[in-house]
Amino acid sequence: MTLNFSSLNRKKQNQKIQDTTFDLVVIGGGITGAGIALDAASRGLKVCLLEKSDFASGTSSKSTKLIHGGLRYLKQFDFKLVRDTGTERAVVYQNAPHIVFPEKMLLPITKGGSYNRFMTWLGLSIYDRLAKVKKEERRKILSKKEVLSLVPKIKEKDLKGGGYYTEYRTDDARLTIEVLKTAVSKGAKCVNYVEVKSFIYDHNEVKGVKVIDNLNGDFFEIKSKQIINAAGPWSDDLRKMDNSLDNKGLYITKGIHIVVSDKHFKLNDTVYFDVPGGRMIFAIPREDVTYIGTTDTHYKEDYEFPSVTRKDVDYLLNAVKNMFPSIDLQHEDIISTWSGLRPLIFQKGKDPSEISRKDEVFKSPSGLITITGGKLTGYRLMAKKVVDIVCKRLDHNVQCKTRNLKLSGGTIPEEGKLLFLNSMQSILMSYLSDDKDFDRMLSSLYNHYGANITEIIEYSVSYSDFNLLRGEIEYVIKQESATNLLDYFIRRSGKMFFQPSKVDVELEEVAKYFGEFLNWEVEKIQLEINQVKEYRERMLMF
Ligand code: FAD
Repeated sequence: MTLNFSSLNRKKQNQKIQDTTFDLVVIGGGITGAGIALDAASRGLKVCLLEKSDFASGTSSKSTKLIHGGLRYLKQFDFKLVRDTGTERAVVYQNAPHIVFPEKMLLPITKGGSYNRFMTWLGLSIYDRLAKVKKEERRKILSKKEVLSLVPKIKEKDLKGGGYYTEYRTDDARLTIEVLKTAVSKGAKCVNYVEVKSFIYDHNEVKGVKVIDNLNGDFFEIKSKQIINAAGPWSDDLRKMDNSLDNKGLYITKGIHIVVSDKHFKLNDTVYFDVPGGRMIFAIPREDVTYIGTTDTHYKEDYEFPSVTRKDVDYLLNAVKNMFPSIDLQHEDIISTWSGLRPLIFQKGKDPSEISRKDEVFKSPSGLITITGGKLTGYRLMAKKVVDIVCKRLDHNVQCKTRNLKLSGGTIPEEGKLLFLNSMQSILMSYLSDDKDFDRMLSSLYNHYGANITEIIEYSVSYSDFNLLRGEIEYVIKQESATNLLDYFIRRSGKMFFQPSKVDVELEEVAKYFGEFLNWEVEKIQLEINQVKEYRERMLMF
């Protein structure tokens, strides 16, 4: 196992990047930056990606976590966006089947709702075509009775039937990290907690960046022939730094999600339903919980920890009550929340929900390239677009190679998954003879790390007492650059959002393992534990 993406290798790695002149520096370790790093590295460019906080800590861990074509963009006649992201769904699924799962969606047809029967049929038919949907996943129009049998708690009054179709669900942060790991395997240098503070120019052309290591306060410089700004909601700050922010700036909108236990709200399929007032939201089942979102409101406050207000929460609770009258969710039923920022391009006179989700590329006079907007789903095409520009500028005549490039962990095809899990299970059984929950444990790990669980097991068996959690922590530190407890609980394992009670149970143990691997003093361990507790409390402060 190499340590090219290890937190333990940070010092050496940061020294190395100061001694190199890169072809491309990418600013921002969300899905957009990660995709660019992968595309460029796989074309043979010397790439360095810099992320000021943890990878995926911006919008890319706070989305609705769907790989979808965005049916709703048909209403805005944004056919290109639907076609591009719709067809890309299949590519993302093919290349990362361990973290992308087909998900049945129900779109209830109601009297006075957004879509009547004809529009649902028409919309889904166009969608099937534009998104080149597989035959077995094409839309069905359901009768009222069929809808009620699928979702018995849905409001019967005004229900006319439903559209039934397939999208994909993922974990946005895991997708970002798998893309980064693949980029690293192709030679990219990707470092978290390194922030770009200013640019270096040569004859008015941007030729490098001045950065600070946010973990130890060191300043240093990195030289590069080309620079891409993929800083999401922060990308205007970098354009400002480059003196190239024109009047086509960002318009930031906020979207929140709430999570409840399936004891309070159980669904078998995702429901995409109307909110009084004209918007639509999702209720999505995932393991033992259901998550609900999202909102869409103009936002100008703190970008580091976007707020979740009582008003946002009540909007979602009222929407659920309206469509599922017998589901009486209370504030105290909410086990976690998150809030993400959409970096949209300002369009005069448009409401937040009407502004296009298209990506946009800006080329500054200094040569800085900025790419922003877009969707998680379309990350690969966004990357191709800007890396094509870079390759042209560098006279590097190599075409995009990511169309059929399997992401880290995604090498086992769907049909081989069972065999793989069975073989892993027999290894585990020889160590954990008492544990009855193998299946669940293994599939949960597989749904995060895919084929790489072999490495977690390898670490686990190397201890005198076989310990899977310790093996996982060693893996995320040595192979996924996790540097602190929140990196693990939010962006590596997703437990903070989807299994918060498990965070409480595992907190001390996980802190102990981090302390061992990263040589933390007792005070540091306590500080980290407190930070996780504060985050838990803050998520529920609305
Ligand atoms: P980010 O993920 O924000 O990454 C930018 C990164 O740049 C950040 O990590 C930040 O720390 C870093 N950075 C900033 N400044 C600096 C600096 N000076 N130096 C170094 N690093 C810096 N899309 C879908 O396809 N499906 C969905 O279901 C979906 N749902 C969504 C729901 C919501 C509520 C929102 C807000 C968006 C949703 N999207 C969805 C869109 C998708 O999440 C975003 O398009 C995508 O995550 C944006 O990624 P990004 O990399 O551009 O930005």
